[in-house]
Amino acid sequence: MNTTWRQMVDDQLKKRGINDPLVIKAMSEVDRKDFVPIKYQRMAYEDRPLPIGNNQTISQPYMVAYMAQALGLQEDDVLLEIGTGCGYNAAILSQLVTHVYSLEIIEGLVPFAEKNLSRAGINNVSIRCGDGKEGWADKGPFDAVMLTAAADEIPKTLKAQLKPGGRLIAPVGKISQRLILLEKTGQDQFREEERIPVQFVPMTGGSN
Ligand code: SAH
Repeated sequence: MNTTWRQMVDDQLKKRGINDPLVIKAMSEVDRKDFVPIKYQRMAYEDRPLPIGNNQTISQPYMVAYMAQALGLQEDDVLLEIGTGCGYNAAILSQLVTHVYSLEIIEGLVPFAEKNLSRAGINNVSIRCGDGKEGWADKGPFDAVMLTAAADEIPKTLKAQLKPGGRLIAPVGKISQRLILLEKTGQDQFREEERIPVQFVPMTGGSN
């Protein structure tokens, strides 16, 4: 039997320690089904990433919720996401902050994400095609940055586009990846915390 939306929230999120009420609310109100290709819609609430075309995936629901919770978002935050994909993660984040800026390197995914977001009635996400390693300077600095593709190290440009006190979360590493949570404690000072082992698609684009 296919997993239901309710089971996704109860079994995959609440039972595994997702307890931020606003994150639970967002995961309960934004339908993951609206963000997956038609042929995978019956699997929309499964505990796994799913293909979205162009060799890319929609993240596992738990991972989306985990990263959102870890960032400790405030409603007046402005957030930068790297790796829009189908737009699901941006849609969840859009419920938790004022505005989400999201960069996607594969041109063909941008209209897919835009269509999914507008169908879901979401209008506080701006998407641009570009290399996320360069960030989005004219919209920054950001209160929070989230990377949804794994880099060998966190791009310096993205650390620079964080506000003092801002947080960044990213999968880091090649073969074995881990989730790193970083807080900007001063102009060029950061506190880094290693969280859980993860498996994300690799970040492409330039080398910085
Ligand atoms: N956030 C997505 C997950 C997308 S998978 C979700 O909601 O499920 C990761 C995405 O990162 C892919 O779409 C990939 O094309 C994109 N990506 C990889 N390298 C990138 C880069 N340098 N800049 C911007 N996007 C990148």
